[in-house]
Amino acid sequence: MELTKKYISGEMLDCLKRYWGYARFRPWQEDTILAILDERDSLTVLPTGGGKSLCFQLPALLKEGMAVVISPLISLMKDQVDGLKEMGIEAECLNSSQPVEEQRAVAARIRQSRIKLLYISPERLRAEPTVSLLKSVPLSFFVIDEAHCISHWGHDFREDYRGLNFIKENFASANIHAFTATATKEVCLDILGQLNLGHPFINIASVDRPNLVYRVMPRLNIISQITELLERHRLEAGIIYCLRRDDVDDISARLNELGFKNLPYHAGLSDGERHANQESFIREEVDIIVATVAFGMGIDRPDIRFVIHAAMPKSIEHYHQETGRAGRDSLSAYCYMFYGGGDFRVWSFFLKQSPNKEVMMDKLQAIYNFCARPQCRHKIIVDYFNQDYRGQNCQACDYCLQEVEMVDEPLKIGQGILRCVQSISFEHGQGFGAGYIANLLKGNLTEQISRWRHQQAACFGSMPEEPLVFIRFMIEQLVGQGFLRRDGEYATLSLTDFGRRLLGGEVTPILAKPLIAKKRKEISAKQREKKAKDWAQVDGTLFELLRRKRAQLAQKQGVPAYIIFGDRSLKDMSMIKPLTSEAFATVFGVGEHKLKLYAEQFIAIIKEYTERKKE
Ligand code: ADP
Repeated sequence: MELTKKYISGEMLDCLKRYWGYARFRPWQEDTILAILDERDSLTVLPTGGGKSLCFQLPALLKEGMAVVISPLISLMKDQVDGLKEMGIEAECLNSSQPVEEQRAVAARIRQSRIKLLYISPERLRAEPTVSLLKSVPLSFFVIDEAHCISHWGHDFREDYRGLNFIKENFASANIHAFTATATKEVCLDILGQLNLGHPFINIASVDRPNLVYRVMPRLNIISQITELLERHRLEAGIIYCLRRDDVDDISARLNELGFKNLPYHAGLSDGERHANQESFIREEVDIIVATVAFGMGIDRPDIRFVIHAAMPKSIEHYHQETGRAGRDSLSAYCYMFYGGGDFRVWSFFLKQSPNKEVMMDKLQAIYNFCARPQCRHKIIVDYFNQDYRGQNCQACDYCLQEVEMVDEPLKIGQGILRCVQSISFEHGQGFGAGYIANLLKGNLTEQISRWRHQQAACFGSMPEEPLVFIRFMIEQLVGQGFLRRDGEYATLSLTDFGRRLLGGEVTPILAKPLIAKKRKEISAKQREKKAKDWAQVDGTLFELLRRKRAQLAQKQGVPAYIIFGDRSLKDMSMIKPLTSEAFATVFGVGEHKLKLYAEQFIAIIKEYTERKKE
């Protein structure tokens, strides 16, 4: 068995190099590939960007027959098929958006057994002519991509993903391999049950994405907070997520006025406009998209360098999924979230109407705690999915990078705030919101405070030195950590049991200071330094020339630029500066087919550039 495994592994590596031009598998990829070759059903959970596609594409090449890939999005299918063709792999798709002649041509190629991978939508699979077509040719296996769409527990439930047990009923001997990035237990169990998998091999990888740097900050002036980051990420690609459509329109327009070219995306735009904006982003005509959560599925662009959340999403699953779109090429990418207590209120209002509102509220609480409790962000995410986080210091979040400064006397501050909330609520049997409490502690005699005569309260002006945003941030963290809670239409604050224990000095809150401008500049400078180090060996001018060539080719062929070569490949070329075909073959992402297609053209540019430089 070990010998066979070794033999297979050798063949797998050859195939990886020949078609993909990659030198090694990522962790977890090999296990799934071996299970597929071993003819066991399987379920693989790999985080977004983990490299799922390769896990089924590679064994599809090694096995006899055609693999059938069920995929929920037509746009995604086309890009995947284009990508495979670029590598010299026989792939096609069948869906309702194709002209009839094209569908006929694909069917003919299937009958001639000339296709290794067929991408198909679930409703198309169920159509009678498709079933008989597929029954008439040898099949290697079935793949269910984005398998979480089967489950109501997932975040992208799709009606047409129901009833996929149809596959086992019609193709009893075929193996099924399910893939998803969603690791919650409910979703996994649902997938296994509904597909009726027999003794499946289950491969659940770590949800951690070590190349993503997480930072969470309170929201103050969102436009200037975002523009500060966009300055940091000039010429890079990124997504800005907002909570509501109106926020998308506002932020998108403001940023365009300020010269940060971007396009909006939300469900309120017409189908045509949405599609056009998404295509512009995929095809690198625009680098920034401002969007609601509606944006993202089907975005395979590997060089997304940042994701900004202008507001808190409704669960850690959503956050993980949305930030996961950054850094698929496994180079460093940055995730920033700006949150405020208002986000919690907006979500709780929406979730009240949801059928499983308790579960949703727990999820909301968990993401809020994630924001408001300074702790290793990678660890919180990994723990949330019930996995073990082994590292000590991730070196990739605001907490572990020591950007978060802690307050000196958290217990004293916490007690001061809680005492204030308790004393004034007691007096009138009624509560007050965070803004009111902050003004009271600061000693601002607002109209409201004087109406309640709270200038006489003991806590009035008890934190005179601290800026109002500081006090607000402390309150936010106390709510996030469960010492205070917000209730009702006016979001009034009151103490929880846990809060009373804090007053008694039994527990201490973890309170961070808001980031001051000087600190933010330091972070920005450090990030630039890191980037300069990453790119130290790379010839920037050459990189730009190669990028231009790539854009030309992509436009001519009508495919996204990354399908020709990812940034990592161009970076490699500008470092190695290959002048022969043999040297070009060693570049990351250059397989046999791309060597044939592109070596000459890219080598010509490198040659010309190096010769010009010598002169
Ligand atoms: P997922 O579907 O899990 O989100 P993808 O299949 O889109 O991830 O893969 C993300 C990126 O990683 C792609 O650009 C892919 O080519 C690349 N990739 C996958 N496996 C490897 C590997 N073994 N070595 C290098 N890059 C890889």
